[in-house]
Amino acid sequence: MAGTAVVTGASSGIGAATVRRLAKDGYDVVAVARRADRLREVARETGARALPVDITDAGAVRRLADALDACDVLVNNAGGALGAESVATASVDDWERMFSVNVLGTLRVTQALLPLLRQGAGGTVVTITSTAAFTTYEGGGGYSAAKHAEHALSETLRLELCGEPVRVIEVAPGMVKTDEFALNRLRGDAAKAAALYEGVDHPLTADDVAACVALAVGLPQHVNIDHLVVRPLAQAAQHRLHRGPLIHRKNEHGIEERPTREFPA
Ligand code: NDP
Repeated sequence: MAGTAVVTGASSGIGAATVRRLAKDGYDVVAVARRADRLREVARETGARALPVDITDAGAVRRLADALDACDVLVNNAGGALGAESVATASVDDWERMFSVNVLGTLRVTQALLPLLRQGAGGTVVTITSTAAFTTYEGGGGYSAAKHAEHALSETLRLELCGEPVRVIEVAPGMVKTDEFALNRLRGDAAKAAALYEGVDHPLTADDVAACVALAVGLPQHVNIDHLVVRPLAQAAQHRLHRGPLIHRKNEHGIEERPTREFPA
């Protein structure tokens, strides 16, 4: 057995894919989220243990820690976005909820499991932030602010644990097509959620991000990937998304021709 891995937000998307991947890699996986029925499905499929926990509830997180006797890997994945309104018009309640789960939930779970992570031969904390953790965009103020804070938490923790055998890793994905993320953000508007990914040639999948987590976790314990940014090939930056098939440019000799950019004089 590779050790015990706790994955939060394991009832869907990236979290469920990470449970599948780490279970396949030989971990005894503990799957954490609020929806017990969804967790049970993931557990049945993977052999993971399902522990229904709301990470915004201090008592529930304490009970989670009490229920475990080991934790070698913690994947802080639970989180998400609510709303796409401007700073001028956003709901303060939405911002509070985003901070509550992405930032304070991550803090609470990390604090509760740190004694176990310190107990074994070497622990690993992986936090799934976002490319929104280091850039901003119109309509993304609250999510971006929460992910910036989650990034700061991860960076600070790495400094504070320097000298101890606990790795602190951040995985920051760009566009990932999961079933619920955009739907939750856009308050259940399926058409708007689908439009976000429209024409994008292969957005990342939850399995792609799980593979990045597995890669970072699977390296020798002395190798710490501080910050892993992963985007689909079609998304060069937050504001530079190509819609439509990827373009294969070849001249008559079969040689690849790159378009050159004209710069203003
Ligand atoms: P999902 O909405 O599918 O997953 C979110 C997970 O978090 C669910 O399993 C949900 O389960 C859980 N969760 C939410 N609130 C709580 C809570 N209070 N307590 C415990 N669990 C909770 O989204 P993704 O898989 O796409 O996203 C996963 C992570 O990746 C998030 O942190 C997100 O911000 C980040 N991310 C996503 C990107 C994307 O494009 N999809 C891009 C970059 C980052 P339940 O409701 O059962 O509690």
